[in-house]
Amino acid sequence: MTQCVETAKSLNQQGFAVTIDYMGESTRDAEMAEQATQEFLNVIQAIAHQNLDSSISLDLSHIGMVIDAELGYKNACTLAKAAQNEGLEMMISMEGVDRTNLILEIHQRLCETFNNVGITLQAYLHRTPDDLERVLQYSGKIRLVKGAYAAPADHAKSRGAELDESYRQLMERLLTSRHPCSIATHDPALLDLASLEHAHRLIQEQKIEPDKIEFEMLKGVTSERLQAMKNYGYHTRVYLPYGREWHLYLCNRLAEHPPNIYQAITDAMKCGYG
Ligand SMILES: Cc1cc2nc3c(=O)[nH]c(=O)nc-3n(C[C@H](O)[C@H](O)[C@H](O)COP(=O)(O)OP(=O)(O)OC[C@H]3O[C@@H](n4cnc5c(N)ncnc54)[C@H](O)[C@@H]3O)c2cc1C
Repeated sequence: MTQCVETAKSLNQQGFAVTIDYMGESTRDAEMAEQATQEFLNVIQAIAHQNLDSSISLDLSHIGMVIDAELGYKNACTLAKAAQNEGLEMMISMEGVDRTNLILEIHQRLCETFNNVGITLQAYLHRTPDDLERVLQYSGKIRLVKGAYAAPADHAKSRGAELDESYRQLMERLLTSRHPCSIATHDPALLDLASLEHAHRLIQEQKIEPDKIEFEMLKGVTSERLQAMKNYGYHTRVYLPYGREWHLYLCNRLAEHPPNIYQAITDAMKCGYG
C-alpha cells in the first residue's frame, strides 16, 4: 500500500484525484473477507492522514458478498461508515452478471443509511437502462463503464458499434440528469477527442454544471486523454489498484490492449503487490 499512496500523492500533485482499490474477488472465507475489510480500513486511514484527494473502490465479493450476502453488507457498512467519518467516497465496482442483482440490492441498502456510496454500471448489459433509472434515485455517484466480464449474448452486447451506441445513450441520460457521475471510458469517440466531441460538446450544449461530472481512467492507460479532459477544466480521476490480485488487473489490461506490455511491466515494478 505504501507505494500506492506515494503514487496517489504524485498524481494529486499533478492535479488528478485518485481512487484506490485493494483488488480482489476470490475471497473464500469469512477470515479473508475480514482481512480485506481491515486492509480497506487501513487505506481509508492512510488517505485521511496523508490528506489525499482519493476515494476507495471495491468489489463487494472481496469483502465477503459471495460467501454470505449479509457478511458482504455488514463489511460494506463498516467501510462506508469509516469513509463517511473521513469525508470520503466509497465506489462499488460491478462484477459478473450473476452478481449484478445482489450488488444492486446491497448498494440500495447502503444508500438508505449512507450518502457517500457510489455504484458502477456496465453499458454492455441489456438491463442497464432500467438499472440506471433505479440508481438515479440515490444520492451516490454513478460510474459508467463499458463492462469487462465475459457475459452471454442474452445478457450483454459484445464490443463494437452497438455497445458504443448504448454507452452514448446511457452517458447522455446520466449527464443530462445532473446526477453526480463518473464517465469511465478511454474511448476518444465518447469523450471529446475525435471529431464527434461527444461528452464535452453535450455538456456545453446543455449547459450542464461541470462540478458533478468527472472523467475517470485506469492507471497507465491513455493518460494523455485524461490530461486532455483536465485541460478542459473537468474533474479527473485515476483508478489505482494494488494488492495480491493486482495481476488480474494487469492481465485484463493486456488483453484489452496488448501494446500495454511495457507500461504494465513498469507498473508491476513500481506498484504491484503493495
Ligand atoms: C475507472 C474505471 C472503473 C472500472 N470499473 C469497472 C467495473 O466495476 N466493472 C467492469 O466490468 N469494468 C470496469 N471497468 C473496465 C471497463 O468496463 C472497460 O473494460 C475498460 O474501461 C475499457 O473500455 P473503454 O471504455 O475504455 O473502451 P474500449 O472500446 O475498450 O477502448 C477505447 C479506446 O481506449 C483505448 N484503450 C482502452 N483500453 C485500453 C488499454 N487497456 N490500454 C490502452 N488503451 C486502451 C484504446 O485507444 C481503445 O481503442 C472500469 C474502467 C474504468 C476506467
